[in-house]
Amino acid sequence: MKPDCFVVHYAEIAIKGKNRPLFERILIENIRKSIKGLKALGVRRRYGRLIVELKEDSKLEEIEEKLKKIPGISSFSPALKTNHDLDKIKDASLILMQEATETSFYIKVKRSYKKFPLKSMEISKEVGTHLGKVKGKIVDFVTPEITLFIEIVENGAYVYTKKVKGIGGLPVSVSGKVMVLLSGGIDSPVAAYLTLKRGCKNIYVHFHSEPYTKESSRKKVEELARQIAEHQNETKIFMVPLIDIQKEVMTKTDKKYRIILYRRFMFRIAEALARKSKAKALVTGENLGQVASQTIENIHAIHSTINMPVIQPLITFDKQEIINLAEKIGTYKKSIEPHDDCCSLFVPKHPATKSDINIVISEESKLDVETLVRDALKKTEKVSINNPDN
Ligand code: ATP
Ligand code: MG
Repeated sequence: MKPDCFVVHYAEIAIKGKNRPLFERILIENIRKSIKGLKALGVRRRYGRLIVELKEDSKLEEIEEKLKKIPGISSFSPALKTNHDLDKIKDASLILMQEATETSFYIKVKRSYKKFPLKSMEISKEVGTHLGKVKGKIVDFVTPEITLFIEIVENGAYVYTKKVKGIGGLPVSVSGKVMVLLSGGIDSPVAAYLTLKRGCKNIYVHFHSEPYTKESSRKKVEELARQIAEHQNETKIFMVPLIDIQKEVMTKTDKKYRIILYRRFMFRIAEALARKSKAKALVTGENLGQVASQTIENIHAIHSTINMPVIQPLITFDKQEIINLAEKIGTYKKSIEPHDDCCSLFVPKHPATKSDINIVISEESKLDVETLVRDALKKTEKVSINNPDN
């Protein structure tokens, strides 16, 4: 059967009380943008449900693929829509059950429209009896293989059996905008996915050391941003040259503190770009103890240079957990392709693992921080990702 619509479920939003209408509006907008061009009839809010209405030539499979990726959708169901005529509801139920390969079923009726003449139990009984006539199908109250959902609302009924899992979480934008520091590695794309899933609108910044790092590394990062952006429609990525700063750090400061100093510059620049774009926090893929720069002391030395919250979704994850997630969201393969990382350039064999913040600040005082930051910002390029206007 070709469904008339998708009934979209959004568990977590439903509990947000006063914010619910706003959340729903944002989710509807996100769905609309995401399925634009796929010939859906429209996306509407109907009695506590979101309905993606379809027409004859709607691109069903593509719409399904999009819905699977939109944060805020817990599940969705291809459904038949009927009017309030019980016979029509029975017909729709029959079509769905005839198609199902499962043999035992259970009927779950939700009667939001209280003026409907039959009570839920009665509807269920009527439809059950009707379906009993289908050969080989039996009602099973205890361990049914399939559930037939019938939802009676004011303008008709929606009937469906299938629930396709979405990614859950909150709709992109409800938590505000954040700036993700995106390297070409495994961790930061996963961190980016996790903030998107908690309702953040991600924008990105990447630091390169061209010409010492290759242009292909920058392309790789763009590609990663594009992959994650499948969950959020359009976004942008700032490409910042770090090489002049690195040269200054290299020639003027104690080599033990190079990584910390590079990072402090990265954070300052990221903060400045975030403020300009009205992003409220930075996001990193930092992980406690994973590499030398990621001790609590070093994280403090890096973060204390800015005055903006830093979200570190992966801070306590095990590497394997991060890899598993990277595989699940599809970034792993790209992440493990070889690339040059600006921070692995010109670093000593034995960097400081527990930096004393006072020494870091005294090393940094040998540099003209303000001018270096300003120059890097001037040379920053902006790349639009998935923007239909580009
Ligand atoms: P990743 O796998 O994300 O590269 P990592 O395990 O290599 O992380 P680090 O190199 O210490 O760890 O980087 C920690 C975080 O700093 C990264 O997750 C990322 O958010 C940020 N970062 C590192 N290098 C860059 C870069 N070149 N551009 C932008 N952000 C970066
Ligand atoms: Mg890295």
